Parts: sequence; C-alpha cells; structure tokens
Amino acid sequence: MTKWVYNFGAGQNDGRAEMRNLLGGKGANLAEMASIGLPVPPGFTISTDLCTAFYKNDRRYPDDLDDQVLEALARIETAVGLKFGDAQNPLLVSVRSGARVSMPGMMDTVLNLGLNDETVKGLATASGDARFAWDSYRRFIQMFGSVVLGVDHHRFEEIIDQAKIDADVIEDTALTAHQWEEVVEAYQALVLNETGKPFPQSPHEQLWSAIGAVFGSWMNTRAITYRRLHDIPADWGTAVNVQAMVFGNRGTDCATGVCFTRDPSTGEDIFYGEFLVNAQGEDVVAGIRTPQPLSKLRAKPGEISMEEALPEAYAELLKVRETLETHYKDMQDIEFTVQSNVLYMLQTRSGKRTAAAGLRIAVEMAEGGLIGRSEALMRINPASLDQLLHPMLDPDAKRTLISRGLPASPGAASGIVVFSADEAEMRAQKGEGVILVRVETSPEDIHGMHAARGILTTRGGMTSHAAVVARGMGRPCVSGAGGIAVDYGSQTLSAGGRMVRSGEVITIDGATGEIFLGYVAMIEPKVSGHFGTMMEWADDVRTMAVRANAETPLDAETAKRFGAEGIGLCRTEHMFFDPSRIGAMRQMIMANDMDGRRTALAKLLPFQRDDFIALFRIMAGKPVTIRLLDPPLHEFLPHGEHELMEVAAAIGVDMATMTQRAADLSEANPMLGHRGCRLGITYPEIYEMQARAIFEAALAVAEETGAAPVPEIMIPLVGSKRELEITRAQVDRMAKEVFAAAGKTLEYQVGTMIELPRAALLADQIAEQADFFSFGTNDLTQTVFGLSRDDAGKFLPKYVESGIFEKDPFISLDRDGVGLLVKMAVEKGRATKGKIKLGICGEHGGDPASITFCQEVGLDYISCSPYRVPVARLAAAQAAIGTRSDRTA
Ligand code: PEP
Ligand code: MG
Repeated sequence: MTKWVYNFGAGQNDGRAEMRNLLGGKGANLAEMASIGLPVPPGFTISTDLCTAFYKNDRRYPDDLDDQVLEALARIETAVGLKFGDAQNPLLVSVRSGARVSMPGMMDTVLNLGLNDETVKGLATASGDARFAWDSYRRFIQMFGSVVLGVDHHRFEEIIDQAKIDADVIEDTALTAHQWEEVVEAYQALVLNETGKPFPQSPHEQLWSAIGAVFGSWMNTRAITYRRLHDIPADWGTAVNVQAMVFGNRGTDCATGVCFTRDPSTGEDIFYGEFLVNAQGEDVVAGIRTPQPLSKLRAKPGEISMEEALPEAYAELLKVRETLETHYKDMQDIEFTVQSNVLYMLQTRSGKRTAAAGLRIAVEMAEGGLIGRSEALMRINPASLDQLLHPMLDPDAKRTLISRGLPASPGAASGIVVFSADEAEMRAQKGEGVILVRVETSPEDIHGMHAARGILTTRGGMTSHAAVVARGMGRPCVSGAGGIAVDYGSQTLSAGGRMVRSGEVITIDGATGEIFLGYVAMIEPKVSGHFGTMMEWADDVRTMAVRANAETPLDAETAKRFGAEGIGLCRTEHMFFDPSRIGAMRQMIMANDMDGRRTALAKLLPFQRDDFIALFRIMAGKPVTIRLLDPPLHEFLPHGEHELMEVAAAIGVDMATMTQRAADLSEANPMLGHRGCRLGITYPEIYEMQARAIFEAALAVAEETGAAPVPEIMIPLVGSKRELEITRAQVDRMAKEVFAAAGKTLEYQVGTMIELPRAALLADQIAEQADFFSFGTNDLTQTVFGLSRDDAGKFLPKYVESGIFEKDPFISLDRDGVGLLVKMAVEKGRATKGKIKLGICGEHGGDPASITFCQEVGLDYISCSPYRVPVARLAAAQAAIGTRSDRTA
C-alpha cells in the first residue's frame, strides 16, 4: 500500500519540514510546527505524489486513497471530540492547497466544510451562537461555490450588499443570524440557478469535491502561467491539507491574522502584521474590512491593536514568533486564528521579502549569530539584487503629489496608466513602460503585473495579493491608495481633484507609497548599508575577480561604483559611431589605398587616445582590457540611398563609387566574414592606430597620475596561432615605436578572445602567443551551435518552451557543449602557460549559473555589464562557497 495521507497535530506528526517536496510547504510546516509544540489544530496532508499519480492515471484516484482519508478524518474526530457530518456537534474542516513553493493561481482555501442545512443548526446550538453558525455557513457556500463550483464570487457579494442595504447596516458583522439565514437561502438559489444542481449537502461529497478542485487547479491556466514565469516543473504537483476548523469569527474574543516575523519591505526586526477581530481568514486579505495592527506601537489614532484587544493571545503570538525564528533561522510569514482567547497556528513559511529586506535580514541574522556568513551569502538570490539597482526618485526633483497609499514594494517607476493586465502586457510588448492600476489584483492579473514597471491598487493592505506578488517579482508597488477613485468604464483615475486618463503618465514610489503626476526625475542607486556589507562579505570569500564590460566613461564610472575591479572588455568599435568620428571612419573605409586609410585613421587617433585616457583615469590602475576593432567594415557604412548620397558628398566621391564600395563590402554571412583579426591582418594600419592610441594614452595617464595603467590588448576572432602571432607583432612594434618616442616604457599584455571552436581546440598552440584568454561565449555559443545570435529569436523561445533546450544558451552557458570547449581550452592554455590569465566577457559573465561554471573550470575573472557587477560579485561568492569544503563557516 502506498502511503498517500500524512497526519499532523494532536500528538501524531508523520511529516517534517524537510518533507516539503512530498507534503508541500504548508503541510510540511504544519507537521513541523506541531512537532515543536506550537498549537496546531489537527489535520492531515494528502501528498504531492497523489497529485502526480492522479494526472498520470487520467485524473483518477488510486484505490487505497479512500480508506486512508477516512482513517485520518476519524483521527481528527477523536482528537477534537466532534464528528464529521454530525447533526448535533459537527466537525468542520478547512481544505487548502499547498505546493512545494507557494504558488498563487492555485485553488484558494475552503473553510467551514462539513456544514449543511442540518449541521448548521447543530453548530448554532453547540456554540450557543446562531449568528456565528449562519455566518459560517454562508462563508462556506460562498467559498465552495466560487472555487469548487465555479460561480462568480461577485454574484455572492451582490447578495450580501443587497442584504446590508435591506437591513440598513454598513458592516457585515452587523447582520443578524436571521439575516444571514436569508443570505444562505439566496446563495443556495444562486448555486442552483448557476450550476443546475442544489448545493451539495453530503459532507463527504463536499470533501471529495474540494480535494478534487485543489488537484484540478494544479492545471488551471493561472497556475500554469505562474509555473512558466517561475520555472516550476509541472510534475512537482500540489498537496491538499485538511484540518480541523478553529473559528476567528465566533465573537469579540476571536480573531484572525497574518504577519511576518520581520518587516518584509525593509527587513527591520519588528513584528509586522495585521489582524481582524471576529473574522475568518479571507476577511484580512480581501480588503472589505480594514485590518488593524498587531503592536500598540504601530497603531494610528482610532486603531485598536491586537496587543490591546487580545493581550493574552498577543503575548502567546510573541512567544511563537521567537520560537519560529530560532527554529527555522529565517523570517517567517505566519497565519493564525484566535478562538476564545486561545491562539492557533495555521501556517508558517519562509516569508517573501524585497531584495532590500532579504539583505538586511540575512546580514542581521549573521551579525546576531543565528546563521553564519556563508549561509547569509547563500540566502540571497543574486538575480534579486537587480531590484536594488533600479533608480530611485531624485529627492530634489520637482513633483506633483496626487495621492498616497501603502509602500507595498520599494523602487520607483514611471509609466503610462493602464487599467487591465491584458493591456499592460500588450503595451509592454510594444516597448512602452506601463503602470498597472487596479482596484485590487487577483491571480488572473499576474501576466500584467509581470509586464508592468509598477503596480498601483486602491484597495488592500501590505499583505494584499498585489503587495505580495509585486514584492516577489521585484516590481515597485503602492497598494491601498484609498484616496484614488478608479473608473474602469471611463478608463480614468481621479484623486485630489485631478483626473488621469489611460495612456497618461504617473510615477509611483513603492518605498514611500506616494503617487505623482507625470515623470519624476530619478537617481542612480548606490551599494551601501546592508547591501554594502553583504558585498564586502562576498568579496572576502570569492576567488574570481569581477570586471565590467564598458567603453564609455559613464559605464566605467557605474561599474566602478558597483565594485568592478577592472574592465574586462572595452569594445572599441562602439567608439566610432559618434557623429564627430563616423565621418573619418567612413573616409577610412572609402579610401583607395593604404595611404588614404592612414590619413583618415590619423584623424581618428586623437579621439581614440582621449577615449582610453578617460578609461584609464577612471579605472585608476585597475586592469583595462581593450579589444581591437571587431565587426566587419560595412557596419560603419551608411544605410539607404539617401544616407549614401550624403556621405558621398561629404567625402567627395561619386555615388557610383560609393555604391560599388558598399557592394564590395557586403557579405552573405558577415558574422563569419571579414571581421575581427582578419580585418587587422588585411588592414594592419587599423590595429596600429588603435595600439598607438592605447600606448600614448597609458603613458599620458602614467605621467599625470604617477600610477601606470596596465593595458591588456585583446585580439578578437582568432582561430589560429599564426593570426595572433601576426597581430601581436603589430602591437609590439607599435609599443616599441611609442615608447622610443616618449623615452619611457610601461607594462602591457597582449591576449586573445577565445570565441571560435578552433581556438578552443587549439588553445595550447594559441597560448604560446597569448598573455591571457578571454572567453567570448557569445560568439562561441553562436559558432558551436551554428546558431545566429541575431536570428535565433525566431525559434529559440519555442525550443526553450518545449524543453529542447533547457535554457536559452545565449543567456545561460551551455555546459555540455560550449562548456566542454571552454574547459578544454582552459586545460590546454594552462598546459602551455601555467600562469596564463583566464576570463570570460560574453553575456554569460553576468549569469549566476554560468558564473558557477566559471568557478568550476577555474577562471581568474568574470566580466559583465556594469549593472550586473553586484550580481556577479555575489554569484562568484556563492560559487566559491559551493566549491569549498568548509561550507558551514
Ligand atoms: C563574445 O563574442 O562573447 C564577445 C564578448 O564579443 P561580442 O559580443 O562583441 O562579439
Ligand atoms: Mg565576439
């Protein structure tokens, strides 16, 4: 017999926290909490294996499930002294989904299951509170009706709204037992009308339908979209948790709440959450009533904190907070219910947090001795640092505040207002920056939230769907901006007497909750505070250096600010497109002979020299790798007849010559054509000019600062030792010439890109001529796969979607093929020259998974775009920790 069902609570815990793959996060943690003595109502978990078996078996349950569920249900009955379906004293249960990782889009909770027209009366008598019993029944019909039977939940809300109008009350809690009974009747009529069947009265039928709905929801479109966005495999499956109900809606000594053991936005070590007296779970997140703060310190005038309203339960909750953090050694996101002043724990999980909060929590936990530094470093997803590298509002910028909401997810964003997720996605695909504005969001909006630069909602708290999802995605979000009225019909929002239409621009600041009209100027982020501390710890453990790919002074400055230890790739061709230079470049290309080319190149020399002086100055003695011209010459020619004519006139050649030259230069496969060192060999004067500019610049900066830069001159697209020998000789000759003229020398190195398979295969020979190798994994991927970098977009996404490629090989290095060549070249290069310096400068140098590979094969440095430098520093540290034997230090 396969074990499908696992008990928890009331002294029998079959699961543990480590069993989350089998029991889902919720189930595993319920068992764990119960086993460390926390108050968890008894229940059981149906495993994720069952979900997988269910789908493998044409959506049928295995035969031995039934008995196991009945047995587990009987155990709950004994534990709480109630009977499922009993007309006098009924056991009610909750049914909740629970995958390995928390997954919005799955079936929501069904509470109070087991109620019917008979048991509701029993509940009324047993509890002595008819109002509570009928309120619970209507909640059950509403939840079961919408999530299991598929009746639109608004239809139920309409019935309540009408009941409140009829009774002339504002709050749900003001409706009497009799009025709730009437709501129940109306609900049942609605269900009959919508589904053609009466609301199911058999508790066992209710239970199996709810279980079936959870498993069914694993394959709904929202869940599938979420899995796709988060790389979650479909065969993980979900678990189902069935648990004895405790009631937060049974009077003023009852409550329900959600909280984080630390602030999930900032990471501050304060208890952070919301609760509602006399309410059930969904009331807190639904935004219908305004949740109250937990701690007295956080209560604003008019608010009553849990500390004041339910002091005993609050004291218990503080103890639970302590126990959970010490036990799990991480910030927890918990759900609880208080029934008659007694606290019950319904969920704990590692809390979602912003990147800033993640850093602060990890740093403070390490400083407090709860975890080690290596553990702190391993806790941070390097990609999440991206969130902190986004601009913030410039404090001095002019702004027009239109409203305020809650600071739900930090970062600032400007964009055009759109009111639907579909439109957000559509306009973002066209390259527009959008702010998605909704009254509230639901799992159906996830694709639009992902596409948007920022999210604004007018309803819901810090734990609302919008807030939680935005934090997880790293999107700035302002939630609960109650001062803004959204009118979907006229596609407008209005606040403070102003109206903003769809398509107009607003700016939101997710760190303060403010909303502004139009664009607001932003400033560049800094690596400081906890971020800075984490980076220092990363630098202490990593063994690979981190450099940046940069050619402009701005990029070099940014890279340095983010901690780059040098430039790993300066693509010199980018320096020729400037309007002040492109003319001379074109004259060089159009020249008939070497003299003509030299004359044009002489005009480019001062520009190049100044470029390099600027870079050397900024990098102040750190290594700077300058790659000589790489792309084919035709890339610099004007496009289209009109532009050709303009250039022909400017340089004094006729159109026919111009057109002929353009035709001569055109190639069927330019990426495999006359580029890289092939150009340097056929037109040696180009590389000579560039080498001269580099040496003159280096000497000038050495003179100016007293610290001589060490230029690393890199030859692109080398496929044979001879190519490097020839180009290296040109560079050395030029060095001699410049040094002789200046009467001074300096150190320099000449190396090559390894970006062709032949270069990797013959790296031992090439190493004889090279001081360093830098793996150009963009071209190497292109040539190993025979896959055009520029055209692959047409089919590559399909390949990734259907699993032919696990990941886009231009984003994450293909270990099996490209990686094999890199490894071979490393070994061969080192066999020839033990101390040859090895780095990577393809896009993969900023990808954490590829960085792990670079560590494994023993590269000396990685180089990536400036904004990815902090990501690379952390990823390199994690890679170093991962390969170290003393991991726990
Ligand atoms: C490469 O090919 O990986 C590289 C860094 O050079 P580029 O992208 O300029 O071709
Ligand atoms: Mg290349």
